[in-house]
Order: sequence, then C-alpha cells, then structure tokens
Amino acid sequence: MHLLSLHELYVGYGRGEAVVRGADLEVDGGTTVAVIGESGSGKTTLIRALVGLADVMGGEVVLEGVSVDPSSRTGIIRLRRAIQMIFQDPASSFDPRRTVGWSLREAAYLAGRPEQELEELVGRMSLSRQILDRRPGELSGGQAQRAAVARALVFKPRIIVADEPSSALDVSLQARIIRLFRSLKNDTSAMILVTHDIHVARMLADTAYVMLGGIIVEHGHARSVLSSPVHPYTRELLEAGTSSITPGIMPSVPPVFGEGCPYRARCPLADSRCAVLPDMHEHDGRMVRCHAQ
Ligand code: SF4
Repeated sequence: MHLLSLHELYVGYGRGEAVVRGADLEVDGGTTVAVIGESGSGKTTLIRALVGLADVMGGEVVLEGVSVDPSSRTGIIRLRRAIQMIFQDPASSFDPRRTVGWSLREAAYLAGRPEQELEELVGRMSLSRQILDRRPGELSGGQAQRAAVARALVFKPRIIVADEPSSALDVSLQARIIRLFRSLKNDTSAMILVTHDIHVARMLADTAYVMLGGIIVEHGHARSVLSSPVHPYTRELLEAGTSSITPGIMPSVPPVFGEGCPYRARCPLADSRCAVLPDMHEHDGRMVRCHAQ
C-alpha cells in the first residue's frame, strides 16, 4: 500500500481551466519524491491541492489506503493532519505581527506538544532565543526556512511537502538546507520536494516526477531519470541545469496546452503524431510519455 497516491488528478483554481491534467503520483513510506519542472509546469498547483489550497476538479486522492475527498472540509482536515507544507517564501507563511517564537508556541499548543519537545525541535533547527524573538520579516532566508521546518515538525506529519526549498537561498545556505532535509528522514514517513533545481532533486530524491504544461511526462527512480533522461523535455532540463529554468520565468517557447504533447512547440523530435497526447508507457526502466520513445 502506498502512503499517498494520486490517480488521474485534475487541479485548478475556481472555475478556470485545469492547470494539472490527469496526474498520477505515488509516495511510499521512507522515500523522498521530487516533482520537477519549470515555472508554470503545474508542480506547485499539484501539491497545493494536497492541503486544500487549489481545487481538485477530478480524480482521486488516496491516503494510507483510504480515499479522501480534498474538496470537502473533512477531507481537507484529514489531509492537513497528515501533510505539512513548507512554502516557497517561508517568512510570509508566519503571522507578520507576531514573533516567530510566538507562532511556534501556538503551533505546539495546537498540536498538543509539550514545551520541552518544542525546545528540542528549536535546538535541532539552531534557532536561538534572539531569532525566536524576531518577527518573520526580520529573519534571513535560512532562518525562516528552519523556523518553517520546526513548525511543520511540531505536527508530526506523515508527509512533509516543501515548495522550492532552496530557491531563495545562496549556494552555501542551499548546502545547509539539503543537509537539513536529509536529516528529516527520521521525523516523517516521506517527503515531497517541488523544485526546478536538478541538483537539489539529485541530492535528496528517491523518485522523480517531471512535469510540463500540467502533465507528468516522465517518472521513475531519481537516479535513472536524472542521470539518463528519456523524455526530450527532461533532457532539456538537465542540460539547462538550474540556470535557465529560473522560478518565475517562463521559457521563451511556452508549453502547449490543450490536446497533444505539451512539449511539441519546442521539441526537436516532434512530428505529426505529437498532436495527440502520448500514453504513459514503460521505457528503459521508467515511465515516459513520448511518441518517439
Ligand atoms: S511526444 Fe512528440 S513532441 Fe512530445 S516529447 Fe515526444 S517527440 Fe517530442
């Protein structure tokens, strides 16, 4: 049994078009899953649906073997008990009028965790008394990230979801955050990392899912997908590294929405078959959605 599985999930906002179209994703206990893609690929929308911040328009979410309705209040409560999210801009996820220490104590109170356990967590995250007495806007990127991780752990989540955990940090802090996320493996059953950063995904993930235009185009063991990609888009991502796939910047040739392969406007292998969306099929030890493979 998977810890979490998403079947044919369609996700969007309000009455708009679905941003994520038919995503299948599985998370097993003891593993880290990376969801990789450029800005606008739908990766953040997909994980926001797991905590009720985007609208599930179709498909199924199964948590620990039980189907959960993410559009119902009880479903969202159940998902939020199991899944804690660390947002891309962690400082903005704290109450700006309160000190960070106040927010952490509030979280511990809501989670029913004693003061001593909170202090241990705060110590593990190297959050000094001085840092706790500051307001979120006064923290550095690394301090805000560690405070957000501490707050997530207070709730003893089954799954931690981190959205672009290294994007706001300089290179030396990125290395610290990678070490920090590695150290969380004993605190939670599984992690989902949403990232444009191939290096972060390689360092942390067991399984990789690659998204483009709201569609998962390749997935499998992170080592295979990120060292010998099969889908032309995954190859482009790896060749670009992290330099040209910058969060917030769309590539010069955007993905194609609607029918057909979302990569066909910039794929060197595109032909007439690509006007129809390929099925996901096995190729070279992973799953891929491409007519040329
Ligand atoms: S389906 Fe066609 S356009 Fe899409 S990646 Fe494969 S060859 Fe390229």
